[in-house]
Amino acid sequence: MNESAVSVFRNGRLASHPVDEEDTPDEVRPDVSYDAPEEGVRALLRAIGEDPDRDGLRDTPGRVVRAFAEYCSGYALDPVALLQRKFSEVSGYQGLVILTDIDFVSHCEHHLAPIVGKAHIAYLPSNAVVGISKLARVVDAYARRLQIQERMTAQIAQCIEDGLAPRAVGVVVDAEHGCMTLQGVNKRAPRLRTQAFSGELSVDPQMQQRFFDAIAAQR
Ligand SMILES: [Zn+2]
Repeated sequence: MNESAVSVFRNGRLASHPVDEEDTPDEVRPDVSYDAPEEGVRALLRAIGEDPDRDGLRDTPGRVVRAFAEYCSGYALDPVALLQRKFSEVSGYQGLVILTDIDFVSHCEHHLAPIVGKAHIAYLPSNAVVGISKLARVVDAYARRLQIQERMTAQIAQCIEDGLAPRAVGVVVDAEHGCMTLQGVNKRAPRLRTQAFSGELSVDPQMQQRFFDAIAAQR
């Protein structure tokens, strides 16, 4: 195997890589009534001393509920199924496939505050690769849920493991947490890094380093 072969995708496409058409996103829970949650937001507004009936706030509960339906639209998706369409013609390519800087927005399950960051994915194909937009969609499917960063990192890695059965998977997530930013006025939140490795990436420090170098390359 050619250990030096590394393909790095940075929020873009490598011309030779299979590209797939965008799927249309699933509709956000048309079966669920928003009346009760809107009443809940009105109660929250009253609890913080606001008048939910004043002009500026009248439509806010509906907006908040629709926004959270969107933030949490990942529950309706089966991320492993997103990886079903594989390309087994890899023309002998046996190097590490690295996709860095996948932007995501999630929400923490403790405060419902935004988690904003970037996910980086590496995998060593055994006999199949996927269109790289699918990897970004996997990140999105897990980000659009209430999360803690550690779990999201592990879920993305497990999904790629289950969907592609590769020889190795690495997932690194860098993110800032809104709930921490808000605790200090004018302070920039520290950036939390979480990582999950399996297979050869968990035991080969050099392979890991190639992944970290790719992540650091354009900082
Ligand atoms: Zn939080």
